[in-house]
Amino acid sequence: MKAIVVGSGFGGLAAAALLAQKGAEVKVFEKNEMPGGRASVHSDKGYTFDMGPSWYLMPDIFEDFFSRFGKTPEDFFELKQLDPSYRIYFGDKGSVDIRKDIEENYRLFDSFEENGAEKLEAYLRSAEEKYNLAVNELLYKDYEKLGDMFDRRLLKEGRKLKILQDMESFVSKYFSSQEAKRVVQYSIGFLGGAPGNTPAFYHMMSHIDITMGVFYPEGGMRKVADSIYRLAMDHGAEFSFNEPVEEVLFEGGKAVGVRTSSGEHHSDLVIVNADYAHSELDLVPEGLRTYGKRYWDKRVLAPSAMVAYVGVNKRFDAFDHHTLFLDEDWEDGFETLFNPKKAAWPESPSYYVNVPSRTDTTAAPEGCDTLFILIPLAPGLEDTEERREAFLEKILDDLAEKIGEDIRPYIETKRIFALEDFRERYNALRGTSLGLAHTLRQTAVWRPSHRSKKADNLYYTGGYTHPGIGVPMVLIASIIVADMIAEEHWR
Ligand SMILES: Cc1cc2nc3c(=O)[nH]c(=O)nc-3n(C[C@H](O)[C@H](O)[C@H](O)COP(=O)(O)OP(=O)(O)OC[C@H]3O[C@@H](n4cnc5c(N)ncnc54)[C@H](O)[C@@H]3O)c2cc1C
Repeated sequence: MKAIVVGSGFGGLAAAALLAQKGAEVKVFEKNEMPGGRASVHSDKGYTFDMGPSWYLMPDIFEDFFSRFGKTPEDFFELKQLDPSYRIYFGDKGSVDIRKDIEENYRLFDSFEENGAEKLEAYLRSAEEKYNLAVNELLYKDYEKLGDMFDRRLLKEGRKLKILQDMESFVSKYFSSQEAKRVVQYSIGFLGGAPGNTPAFYHMMSHIDITMGVFYPEGGMRKVADSIYRLAMDHGAEFSFNEPVEEVLFEGGKAVGVRTSSGEHHSDLVIVNADYAHSELDLVPEGLRTYGKRYWDKRVLAPSAMVAYVGVNKRFDAFDHHTLFLDEDWEDGFETLFNPKKAAWPESPSYYVNVPSRTDTTAAPEGCDTLFILIPLAPGLEDTEERREAFLEKILDDLAEKIGEDIRPYIETKRIFALEDFRERYNALRGTSLGLAHTLRQTAVWRPSHRSKKADNLYYTGGYTHPGIGVPMVLIASIIVADMIAEEHWR
C-alpha cells in the first residue's frame, strides 16, 4: 500500500510515522526546507528560536502517541516541569506567578477575592471531569456521521458538557475578580478563541495548565518534531523537502497521487496535512472539493499573529519562561480580533513573551536571552514592513514601562514574522496562525472532515480537523486518520 502525505507539520509527521509502522510505503512532500510545519526553527548569531509552539501541555497525549511505537517521550527528549508554570502581568498592576504547587495557587486566588481558593478548587474539579470525559470519550473519536454526536449516551453527557454556554458567562458564575477570571480564561487563546465565542466545555484548559502543569522538552519543541520525524524515517517513511504539492491527482473520483515540480507521483492514498482551505481550493479540482470558497468565507478563523524573534545580550529577570502581558482592556481586545467590522492593528494589545533561555542553556549564548514576543492579530489585516516595525516599537515601549527596563539597546538579532509570512510559508488562509477557532459550530462533528466527502482515498489531518488546534490535538487527528485508513484498506 503506497501512501503520499502532503506536508510535514506535526500532523503529517505523525500520520507518516503511524502509517509506515502499519506497513504502508510512505512518501512525504513538504513545501518548506524542514519538518515541523508551524514548529519551524529560526537561528541567528547563536540564538535559536522555536518559531511556533512553545507550550508543551497534555503530557499524557504525547505519552500515548509514543507508546504506540513502544516508546516514551523520554526516549527522545528530557522533559522538565516548569515552576512557575507561567507569569501574568495585569496591565500596570504588577505580576503574579502560577505555580506547580496547587496550594500556592489556592493562596493566590484567596488574594484575588473572598473564598478564591474554594472557588478555584470547585472550578478545577469541574475542569478535570471535562478533561477526563474528553480524553476518554470524545477526542479520539471520528465524528463522521452526525448520528455519532447525537447517540443517546452523548446526548446525555452533552448536557453536562456545557457546550451551549460560553466561557465568559460560565466563568462569571465562579469568580468575580478580574484577576481570577483572566487566569482561568487566558488559556482559551491556545484554541484561537475568545471568552464570548468559545463553549464553556473548554474550561477543561485550566485542568491542563494549572493542575497537570506546563512542561518543557529540553532542546525545545523542535526536538519533539524532530523525534517524530526520526520515528517516521526509522519505520521507512521517505521525505522530500522544498517540494510543494501543486495538484492532487484523481482517476474516476479516486485520489491516485500528486503532482510536484519533479513530476507525477502515484499512490493508493493521499493524506493531506497542508492547511485544509489551501488544499481544497488550490490542489483539488472544483467538482471534487468537499468545501468550496463560500464555506471557507463563512468560517470563524483563529487569530493570526505578529511574532518577533529577538536575541538580547542581557538576561531580563522580569520574564519567566512563559510571561503573559494582559491589557487592562482585555475584553475589548477580542473585538478587534473576532469582529470583522472592528478588525485593526490594536492600540494596546495583550501579548505573550516566551524566554526558553530561562530553562534551556542551548537556546542563547551565555548571559543572553532568547525572546519570542507574540501579539495576536485579526486574520486578513493589511501587513506591511512599516506597520510591523511601528507596532513592535509600540510593544517595546509598553514592555519597558512594565518591566522597568528597555530591551532595545541589547538587541543582537531580530526577525519579525506576521500575517503575510503565515500565508506565504504555510499557505495559511487569510494568514491565520492557528486555523479554525473552536466555536461551537466548529467543534467535533462540525470541524472539516478527516475524509473527503467527494473523492475516495483522500484524507485530511492537522489542526483544521477534529479535535483541533495545538500539537497534542494534531497528534490525535493523525491517530484517528491512520486508524481509519487501516480499517478501510488493511482488512
Ligand atoms: C506562533 C504559534 C504558537 C503556537 N503555540 C502553541 C503552543 O505553545 N502549544 C501547542 O500545542 N500549539 C501551539 N500552536 C499551534 C500548533 O503549532 C499547531 O496547531 C500545529 O503545529 C499545527 O500542525 P499541523 O500539522 O496541523 O499544521 P502545520 O504545522 O502548518 O503543517 C502543515 C505543513 O504543510 C506544509 N504545506 C502547506 N502547503 C503545502 C503544499 N502545497 N505542499 C506540501 N506541503 C505543504 C506546510 O509547509 C507545513 O509544513 C502554535 C502555533 C503558532 C503558529
